[in-house]
Amino acid sequence: ETRETLLEVNNIEVIYNHVILVLKGVSLSVPKGGITALLGGNGAGKTTTLKAVSNLLHSERGEVTKGSIHYRGERVQGLDPATLVKRGVIQVMEGRHCFEHLTVEENLLTGAYTRRDGSAAINKDLELVYHYFPRLKERRRSQAGYTSGGEQQMVAMGRALMARPACILLDEPSMGLAPQLVEEIFGIVKTLNEQEGVSFLLAEQNTTVALRYAHYGYILESGRVVMDGPAKDLLENPDVKEFYLGVS
Ligand code: ATP
Repeated sequence: ETRETLLEVNNIEVIYNHVILVLKGVSLSVPKGGITALLGGNGAGKTTTLKAVSNLLHSERGEVTKGSIHYRGERVQGLDPATLVKRGVIQVMEGRHCFEHLTVEENLLTGAYTRRDGSAAINKDLELVYHYFPRLKERRRSQAGYTSGGEQQMVAMGRALMARPACILLDEPSMGLAPQLVEEIFGIVKTLNEQEGVSFLLAEQNTTVALRYAHYGYILESGRVVMDGPAKDLLENPDVKEFYLGVS
């Protein structure tokens, strides 16, 4: 079975501030319809990789200095982030980034800002978001800043869904959440993948959870991919168990 490749990252190098080499030749691919996990500890380069793909490094004074990134066979470098959003690549940043003074529903609607297909279609997708995130429907009139961390993560993901994504780049969805909520969030990722056909590239420090939900994983260490394979194999791999899953 061969699957179409959505994203192809080929041997990229990223440098911050002209001097700090952070990615030292990272390659990975995200198949259409898959959940791909990018794993590794703090500072390994996960966020940098996602930002390289969605062209968000400029504001951080970062630059892809080597290698290439293709989305559906087209070179991504040089496209502005809004164009990528229109083509279906949506990044959900680490730390959620809700508009705290807007309501949950207003936050969701900001996700549709690049769309030109009218309010009926947008309202239909709002209902779709509420279908997958019933909690957000209950909280639709609440100010986002007053909702819980888990609800804010859902708002961030729901907002991405409003942009009709083909591929969501999800940065550290488990951060700061209680284990039960982490399962809930990952469960929704799986459902969106299976029922809406959304592909995911997700960066996660919580290796165990990520590998239980992902199809394929890449492990980053100091800006290099040190291991990759089907999620099931990685979960069983003795080195992964010892160094990343905390068991031996
Ligand atoms: P985290 O889980 O903490 O986000 P990460 O694996 O996503 O970790 P990155 O955020 O990509 O890692 O950071 C990789 C390295 O790049 C770190 O050493 C970090 O200090 C450095 N770095 C990140 N952003 C910048 C920046 N704007 N300027 C300089 N160095 C940076």
